[in-house]
Parts: sequence; structure tokens; C-alpha cells
Amino acid sequence: DTRHWIGGTRVASVRAATDADAAAFPTATATATATATPTATFTDHSPIDGAPLAEIARGGPGEARAAVAAALDAFPGWAATPPAERAGLLHAVADGVEARADELARVETADNGALLRSHRRGVMPRVAHNLRYFADRLLALGHDDFDTRGHTNHVSWDPAGPAVLITPWNAPLMLASWKIAPALAAGDTVILKPAEWTPLTASLFADITRDAGLPPGVFNVVQGYGPEVGAPLVADPGVRRVSFTGSVPTARRIAAAAAENLVPCSFELGGKSPLLVFADADLELAADLAVEQYDNAGQVCLAATRILVEEPVRDAFLGHVLDRVRELRQGDPRDEATRIGPNIHPRHIERVDGFVRRALEAGAKAVTGGGPNTELGGTYYLPTLLTDVAQDSEIVQEEVFGPVLTLQTFPDGDEDEAVRLANGTRFGLAATLATGDPARADRIAARLVAGTVWVNCFFVRDLSAPFGGSRQSGVGREGGDWSFDFYCDLKNTVTAPGSREARHG
Ligand code: NAD
Repeated sequence: DTRHWIGGTRVASVRAATDADAAAFPTATATATATATPTATFTDHSPIDGAPLAEIARGGPGEARAAVAAALDAFPGWAATPPAERAGLLHAVADGVEARADELARVETADNGALLRSHRRGVMPRVAHNLRYFADRLLALGHDDFDTRGHTNHVSWDPAGPAVLITPWNAPLMLASWKIAPALAAGDTVILKPAEWTPLTASLFADITRDAGLPPGVFNVVQGYGPEVGAPLVADPGVRRVSFTGSVPTARRIAAAAAENLVPCSFELGGKSPLLVFADADLELAADLAVEQYDNAGQVCLAATRILVEEPVRDAFLGHVLDRVRELRQGDPRDEATRIGPNIHPRHIERVDGFVRRALEAGAKAVTGGGPNTELGGTYYLPTLLTDVAQDSEIVQEEVFGPVLTLQTFPDGDEDEAVRLANGTRFGLAATLATGDPARADRIAARLVAGTVWVNCFFVRDLSAPFGGSRQSGVGREGGDWSFDFYCDLKNTVTAPGSREARHG
């Protein structure tokens, strides 16, 4: 069974970190049959306390080849499966996710350290929703035929072939499902390569697809490190699409490899998004929006990490923010009262702290935070807000991907300067505006370089909306029919006048 190659993905053994966690972990271990089981493994640790969670099969070029072969074998059958049947299977997978949502939530929290309550209440229901949404969207897909001098144009979305999906660790199953759902709905077969720091829910998901009745080889997971197994997957000539969410340097490598086979890529990359606070804003709301940027310990690509505030309200706004930061409780993400959990890995903490230390050396002031949380230790970093930062400094230009925000000001009434600062990085993923003036919101939104602009809100995301980044924040848009445009080969069939009548006698 090819999925097991994977599905089995050989979480060779998933063991509970503590007795309390025991119930959260699958005890069964699937075994591979489709190809040689990789002999190497790596150890997956929890960011909560560093405890080892599982030994994971460490895929390499051989596993990549086998997974693509399985996806190629399964492709003709899956592509020919009637849309209603494909949609039905996706709904069955969604049922499986819902049935195991609590287990998925607990495993995800153990693996990536994000809050258990948001995994339970927000993320896992959303994973199921992603599957249902694209299943239903598939059935609604279609344009009206149109006419060219009596010829009929009929547009269809044809399945493209095996799609490689490569995902990061900050929202593992959520981001994977956002790709898996449209790819499978489109009739592509899938090879998922999750991040090596968060392998677990991908393997559980593979089991769910098997139990839901997805044919073998339609959904495959390969575990392992990017350069060892991600790179050969992307370079495989059998692959027809690559969808990647992760960092800019990795995207460059993937784009170069995919160029060899001219394979279309979708890239959702980093960001350094602004939060613009105008003097006419509801400052309490603006402060709420600012503090929301610490969610997931700042490991959110969309996070508005650069606060740009109009000079006259700077002190009042900052006061509201600091009031809220004092209330933020940091700790174990399994605890209901926790608002900020750990960051993903000790190496990541070093990276985050490096950015902050260099900023402080360059003259920045930490008005709150500014270092690791010494009481909690390990992977916990204090929510940090830095002022006195220059627009061209590293801390303003580079993505930190931790609970670190900067605050800059723009002069009273100077919209041009606000826009200049907002657009003044190499990124263009999102932007958030706080203003009480709808005309100003329209004016500013029109001038911002960003895939998504939020006005007096944050993180509201409809699956029907286009999603992606401009500049180095990404290539392409997914969501709604845009996802099908990416995962399919579009075809236009032009029929001469009279042909249909003739054929139908
Ligand atoms: P990363 O680029 O280091 O890794 C992402 C994935 O790519 C992992 O699965 C990794 O194993 C794989 N990989 C690494 N090298 C590879 C190679 N040579 N070939 C193929 N695959 C390879 O990124 P990360 O640190 O895991 O994730 C954080 C980044 O992701 C941040 O920049 C963040 O902004 C971004 N992100 C973007 C979005 C978005 O939607 N725009 C969402 C979440 C995260």
C-alpha cells in the first residue's frame, strides 16, 4: 500500500512524552510496503519542554522517487474519477479529521508548541473546512461557454498530474490542508513533504485519508529534511506542480530546480507586514490588533510586525499596547490561560535573539521584552517591542518570525510618508490599517503593495478570496478558483458552427 510508505511514513514509533500525553499519541505504527523502508531516522522533539516525541523515517532520493512513482501510478485513475466522487471522498476525509480533531490538536501542540485551545477550536475545524470548501468548489467550477463568430469556446480545468506540496512548521496541518484540498479536488495526486520540525500530523492525516477510502498513491507523505528529500522531489521529472510555503532562500532553490522541468510553482513566503495606526483610529482597537501580532509566538507569516503610528497618538497608543502586553500570559500551550507559548526550536530562539541583540546594539530600545523568558527558559521568548529603529536597519527589513515587533512613527497628516515606510521592504504579503476614516482607508489600501489589506481587523480570511504575496512574499495566488487555476491545466475547446448538431444527428 503506497500511502503507507508514507502514511506509515514511518513514524517508526510515536511515543508519548509524558503519561498525560499518552492518550494523544497513536501507538500503532504503519509499515511500508511500496518501497524500501528508509533505514535512517531522525528524532522529533517537542518545543514545550524539549522532550523527544518520535523517531521519524528520514527520507532521501530513493523515497522521493518511490513517492513520485506512486503518485504517477495513481494519477490516471484519480484524474478520471468523476468530480462528485472526488468531492465525496474529500468530505469523507474531512469527517475523519473531525472525528480525530482532538487527537490531531494535541499532537500538533506537542509538536509545534502553538496553543492547544486554538488547535482545538480554530485550526482543526478549519482543516476540515478547507477540505469541504474545495470539494464543493470543484462541483461549482465552470464558466459559461462563449461564442467567437459562431464557434463555441468551452473552458475546462484538467487535472495536471502529481503535485509536490512542501510546508513549514508554524502551522503544519493547517497550511498543508490549504494545499492538499484544492490539489486533490483538482484531480492531481499529492506528495506532501512536511517540515522536519513538525512531522506528526501529516502522518496522522495520511492514515485518515486511507481510512476514508482514498485510493492508494493518491495522497503520499514523505518525511525528512529539505535538502535530502525535498530537493529530489522538486527536481523529479514526473512532478507537474510544486506548491511551497516557507522561506525566501528555500523558494529560490526550489524555483531553480523546478525551472529545469518548467514546472509551475506557487510560493507563499515570508513577510514584514506593517500595521498603520492613524491618529483618527480607535486606539484601543489598534492596540488589540498590535498585541494580536504576538499570536503563535510571532511565528505567523502574515504578522504585522512593523507598527507605523502617526506621531501625535504615539504615546497614547503605546500606553494601550503596554497595558495589554502586561496581561499576556506566557507558558505551557496546553494550559487554557496561556496566550503565548514557546517558539519552535532552540536554534530558532538563537536566531530570534540574534536579531534583537543586534538591534539593541544599533540603538533600538526594548520598551517591553528584549530577550528570552528566563523564568520559563528553553524556547520561550518574551513578547518584545522595539522603538528607535531605522527604516533601513536589519530589524525593520528582515523577517524575525518570533514575538518581536518594531514601532516607528510618521509625521502628523503625512500619508505619503506612512505609505513610503509601509512599502519600504522587499516583502508584500499583507498590511493592516487602523483608521476611523473610510476614505483614508480606501486611499491608503490602494497604494499599498500587499496580497491582503485588512482595515480595522486582522487575519479574517475567506477561502474564496485570493491569497498570496507580492514582491518576495510570494508568487501566485491560491484560494477559490485561483487554486484550481494553479493545480489544473486549463483547456479551451473551440467547436465549429454546426459540429454539435451534426454529431447529434
Ligand atoms: P524553510 O524554507 O526553511 O522550510 C520550509 C520547508 O521547505 C520545510 O519543509 C523544509 O524541509 C523544506 N526545504 C528546505 N530546503 C529545501 C530544499 N532545498 N528543497 C525542497 N524543500 C526544502 O521555512 P521554515 O523556516 O520552515 O518556515 C518559515 C517561513 O515560512 C517563514 O519565512 C514564513 O514567513 C514562511 N511562511 C509563509 C506563509 C505564507 O503563507 N506566506 C505561511 C507560513 C510560513
